Amino acid sequence: MNDFEYDVLVVGAGNAAFSAAHAAREEVARVGVLEKAPAAELGGNSYFTLGSFRATYGGLDDLRPLLDELDEREAASYDLDPYPAESFAADMLRLTRGRTDPTLMRILVENSFSTLQWLRRHGIRFKLQSDNQVFEVDGRKKFWGGGTIATVGGGIGLIEQHLNAAKSTGIDVRTEHQMTGFLIGPGGAVEGVVCRTPQGERQIRARAVVLAAGGFEADARLRATYLGPGWDTAKVRGSRYNTGEALMSALDIGAQAYGNWSGAHAVAWDINAGQYGNRVLTNKLQRHSYPFGITVNVEGSRFVDEGADFRNYTYAKMGAAILRQTGGLAYQIFDQRGAGLLRTDYGHDGASRVEAATIRELAELLDLNADRLERTVAAYNAAVGDRPFNPTILDGLAATGIEPPKSNWAQPIDQPPFIAYPVGCAITFTYGGVRVDADARVLDQGDQPIPGLHAAGEVVGGLFYDNYPGGSGLMSGAVFGYRAGKSAARHSRDRG
Ligand SMILES: Cc1cc2nc3c(=O)[nH]c(=O)nc-3n(C[C@H](O)[C@H](O)[C@H](O)COP(=O)(O)OP(=O)(O)OC[C@H]3O[C@@H](n4cnc5c(N)ncnc54)[C@H](O)[C@@H]3O)c2cc1C
Repeated sequence: MNDFEYDVLVVGAGNAAFSAAHAAREEVARVGVLEKAPAAELGGNSYFTLGSFRATYGGLDDLRPLLDELDEREAASYDLDPYPAESFAADMLRLTRGRTDPTLMRILVENSFSTLQWLRRHGIRFKLQSDNQVFEVDGRKKFWGGGTIATVGGGIGLIEQHLNAAKSTGIDVRTEHQMTGFLIGPGGAVEGVVCRTPQGERQIRARAVVLAAGGFEADARLRATYLGPGWDTAKVRGSRYNTGEALMSALDIGAQAYGNWSGAHAVAWDINAGQYGNRVLTNKLQRHSYPFGITVNVEGSRFVDEGADFRNYTYAKMGAAILRQTGGLAYQIFDQRGAGLLRTDYGHDGASRVEAATIRELAELLDLNADRLERTVAAYNAAVGDRPFNPTILDGLAATGIEPPKSNWAQPIDQPPFIAYPVGCAITFTYGGVRVDADARVLDQGDQPIPGLHAAGEVVGGLFYDNYPGGSGLMSGAVFGYRAGKSAARHSRDRG
């Protein structure tokens, strides 16, 4: 049959999609990428990221060949603990309370480093995350929380580099092509897709299809339906185009729904941010430094253990905790000790921020009950223990005997001026998706592969439940994108 336009057709143009396309193009000649968004908004959620990839490594010497450049004098002051496969696996198991799919998790962990090497060969450029993942303690710059490496230029750089790689190998990228359904051939094999384009509906035939079209986080109705009441009011941290129709089309042709369909990654986000991601500020609207202050709701009460773990292991749950509060609103409060530890994101122009000389005045400026907020801060300060503060370890400096306790980094809030950052909930991506096997082939309800259909990235379920270790989204997109591209190319060849 030579009426197939493509050997492998990839739906979506984010990190998972480009990874699949590069992997397929290593094997077959005609690879296409179909993206719903216009060219000016290409890149999906991947564009909005910091470009942080969570991968295993033995030490700086392992990472060195991946890095664009490294200031060796600066590097001599770094402390960078190894992050072996056992640690990555333990993080996945701990954060998902043992529910992560063991096969998918093992593939993610064991292939993380080699996939970075492969991406590097395709022109993806990496650097150490030496700004927001490092604290200086006793003259040493220590990385913490398993976050070490990111792309040069963040998510914007990542997409630019992917696009350049795609252009250089002749991968055909078409924007304004919204996939709305599949073309099904004999035996139920997927033989292409139906698309909505500015020129009308098109049918595009392909020997194999890779679905990499993200989750359903940008659709208010689907959020309320699957995540529950209130989620329709959440802001969207990234792309407005991940509205789930590609995922739902896969379920319509018998793909198995898998993973945590009522769960999502969601963070603390500047309260005045727009409804969808901002392509200039991208991830800077996030407010991730809560471990170094307290977070209160509109009643002036704390409601979360801000120091339960490194922020890389708690931030993905913070959005849901805020959404549960009155008005879906909270305030991160810092004194000058905490203010000195804030991530660089907090400093962007237009950040919502209130400063005052006293807690009472701060409460009045925020329109909170001043007596209540003063009581909350006083009770917290009185509960703070007496141990050395160290932001690079779980230092056990706790505030106990209050509800909720704060388990680490609990310094008193008593050095004015005091600063508050009002935050709401912004959803990053949804955890539920289709089920895939080890070759990223989409499985049906009977665990059999649907011929010709492969998937990678946020559209796949089973890896993340309730929580998520930072940097795993891009990594899983690349690991399973690679596998999906390879198995789609194999399927394409097998069709003859
Ligand atoms: C602000 C922000 C910061 C983040 N930071 C990080 C980070 O540093 N590290 C990390 O690991 N993760 C991070 N994440 C999560 C990360 O973005 C995702 O895990 C990852 O990018 C998912 O990649 P993907 O290719 O599956 O989806 P996406 O990159 O979202 O790509 C999906 C693509 O499919 C397209 N699409 C959707 N429907 C259709 C359709 N019907 N037809 C055609 N195309 C369609 C979309 O337009 C989009 O381009 C962050 C997310 C956000 C929003």
